[in-house]
Amino acid sequence: MSRPDRTIYMDNNATTMVAPEVLETMMPYFSALYGNPSSMHSFGGQVGKAVRTAREQIAGLINAEAEEIIFTSCGTESDSTAILAALQAQPEKRHIVTTRVEHPAVKNLCRSLDSLTGHKHRVTELPVESDGTIDLQRFEDSLTDETVVVSIMWANNETGVIFPIEEMAGIAKNRGILFHTDGVQAVGKIPIDLARVPVDFLSISGHKLHAPKGVGVLYVRKRTPFVPFLIGGHQEQGRRGGTENVASIIGMGKACELAGRHIVKENTTVKALRDKLEKGLLEKIPNSLLNGHKSKRLPNTANISFEYVEGEAILLHMDRFGICASSGSACTSGSLEPSHVLRAMGVPFTAAHGSIRFSLSVYNNEDEVDFVLDKMPGIIANLRNMSPFWQNR
Ligand SMILES: *Cc1c(COP(=O)(O)O)cnc(C)c1O
Repeated sequence: MSRPDRTIYMDNNATTMVAPEVLETMMPYFSALYGNPSSMHSFGGQVGKAVRTAREQIAGLINAEAEEIIFTSCGTESDSTAILAALQAQPEKRHIVTTRVEHPAVKNLCRSLDSLTGHKHRVTELPVESDGTIDLQRFEDSLTDETVVVSIMWANNETGVIFPIEEMAGIAKNRGILFHTDGVQAVGKIPIDLARVPVDFLSISGHKLHAPKGVGVLYVRKRTPFVPFLIGGHQEQGRRGGTENVASIIGMGKACELAGRHIVKENTTVKALRDKLEKGLLEKIPNSLLNGHKSKRLPNTANISFEYVEGEAILLHMDRFGICASSGSACTSGSLEPSHVLRAMGVPFTAAHGSIRFSLSVYNNEDEVDFVLDKMPGIIANLRNMSPFWQNR
């Protein structure tokens, strides 16, 4: 079967297109401007200056200071760096609080800490409500005198559900507990003001906000104890060894500047498209359900279960029309287990298996939403006609 003549990309929580302006900004740093930003000569110095601009652009998006920005290779490295640095700050404390719905970058790290460090840790994975939200009282009750760090994502990659990070970070701060948030899905989609939200660490990934893959940021608040994860040269003021991925860093700076300009559009135009898509699908297709809180949610994400059909099968049929989305998390595809996020929310198996995540961006338009609304009812009806679960429900 040949590829459809156009791609309708609604999988922006998995990765995003590099913005044309970002690519253009990066290009000279692959050719003419190849100097090492750490060099003493002015040829390298001009590159160092551009890296500094990128640091300021990123700090500007989250209302931080440029010195609080550390460049990494990805969101995963940022998550690992933050959690391991926090553990080393107070090695006598061995209790960590996180949630059952974290990205594997946090979830699997927390589960590997004992073998990684040679010490026994106690990890509390907080449950979530059926709408994916978290109970603040339960969070507060989970903190003990042994708790060294909390790691809770700002927004969930699968459902888009937003956690009350400002309140939770405040509670942790009052008890002298370090707070890390995986902000990979939140930054660029909702306004973030770190002057108001007292987190110690925040992770960002380039490729989730229209910069390239393979570059990330770890925000570390001034005076928060820190030890590097990658030990080597004096780059990043001794906080992360390794020669800077200059072009990608500069691209990420530009992407953050663009994200700042697009944040209103993200919460008006993109949200309106998402709402139209979501409402249309739920109305046109029987036995379809929204996963996640109706309003405490990213403006671009709709996670919908189509009962009694397989998500993977739905994706294959969507693919024939050039429509890209995900079933659960891209990382869990390939296994038959339904996503750990939907399981934590108690979504029944018949619904969890048929869940599709649509994640939009400023590059989507209404024509695309209409096209998807036109095709989906037929796809689901055809699959249900072949499904014994549907016939015998
Ligand atoms: C994508 C993602 C990551 C991992 O980022 P990479 O740059 O791909 O390593 C971490 N957390 C969340 C919430 C994500 O969506």
